[in-house]
Amino acid sequence: MTFHIYPTLEIPETLAAGPGPGNTDARVLQAFTNTGVADHMQGDVLRGMVECKHMLREIWGTSNTYTFAVAGTGWSALDTMFSAVMPGDKVVAFNNGTFSDIDTLTLRIKAATPEEHAANPLDPLAAGVTVIDVLHGQSVTGEMVEAALAEHKPKWAFMAHWETGSGRINDLRGFSDACERHGAMGLIDAVSSLGVEDFRIDDYPGIAGWASCPQKGLCCLPLTYAPVSFSDEYIDSLKSTGAYSYVHNPIFEARHWGIVDGQDVEKGTYHRTHSGYAVAAFHESLRLTLTEGLAKRSGSYRTHEKVLRDAVTAMGCEVTSDMPSLLVLNLPPELAGREMELVLNCRARGFGIWPTLSAPVQVRIGILNQLNRQAISQIIRLFAEAMRELGGTVDFEAIEALLESRYGTSIAA
Ligand SMILES: *Cc1c(COP(=O)(O)O)cnc(C)c1O
Repeated sequence: MTFHIYPTLEIPETLAAGPGPGNTDARVLQAFTNTGVADHMQGDVLRGMVECKHMLREIWGTSNTYTFAVAGTGWSALDTMFSAVMPGDKVVAFNNGTFSDIDTLTLRIKAATPEEHAANPLDPLAAGVTVIDVLHGQSVTGEMVEAALAEHKPKWAFMAHWETGSGRINDLRGFSDACERHGAMGLIDAVSSLGVEDFRIDDYPGIAGWASCPQKGLCCLPLTYAPVSFSDEYIDSLKSTGAYSYVHNPIFEARHWGIVDGQDVEKGTYHRTHSGYAVAAFHESLRLTLTEGLAKRSGSYRTHEKVLRDAVTAMGCEVTSDMPSLLVLNLPPELAGREMELVLNCRARGFGIWPTLSAPVQVRIGILNQLNRQAISQIIRLFAEAMRELGGTVDFEAIEALLESRYGTSIAA
């Protein structure tokens, strides 16, 4: 057998204009690369983790002691959040797109009995889990949650806050209120809303568990730290049932962030090797979020999303999303059916837009950490060129006029 050493892997700079990862902030990358070689028990690494915990509570508006972050991606945080769901538990879960669909699979895996697992190991049908399917492109409403919880009276209820598959915002207030009314513990996939939307966990007392990710609204690197937060009620439930996980058990995992027996302690305790690089990057992304402030940032997302939305609408596209960080759209009728071709053409040029990952095929364009005139104008021009290349009719002058009228004076930043 011959032995082959590949050349050093080089990955080019691209324009990340999809649902995530976002355009990692240069200051986050710098914090990552400036970090020295230090083990996970070195004093500044431990101090950094404790500081991250406090900043995260501030950003997320919560006094939940069990607020920290899980090494990995959004799914790591979600798996941690779902770890308290035990075989046989009664769950109502809402599915309105790619991500909540995978969340409902995770819930069926957690709530399946051994017999249900054996019958269908990769896709168990857990009798305790009721999945409410909502059509692609539609939001979960408070009325839907109210009706389902009144009927099923589950221990747990689940919903995505923002369903990134279809770009839809679901009704967090209605969900939390219904959970409170019916004594269910709410679980929320907040992977794409944290760091973009201005909301506070403590305003939603019906919700017991929250999970997010590093690389979307927080503009940190993927595979650093995925935020989670749990109410005391959630932790009490977990204490009484246990969980079938060591590394994704919130009680064990919180110890690294200086949370032991429900109390903040001075520094974390070891049983997992954390990365000083990841801690430094995460710490910087939280500092940036606090410095800018969520109110300002979420307003800025809305302003720039509107410019992008109006520009693609002027090109004949139909926008079906309502998330301020992501557009999901149908191409004009003459280009219908060529969404994948358009997306692949763009990606081949380093313009990283996305298709939807479940039917129907639509185009997704994200603006994570692209909140300025230059970045939005570039996205609009690149998209316009890609449409023209496929034979679409695009009035470039009208688009430049739209950009000038929106950005010419007040929001030129
Ligand atoms: C991106 C996303 C996920 C998955 O997050 P990863 O960081 O890729 O693991 C889950 N849920 C939602 C709503 C998302 O947007």
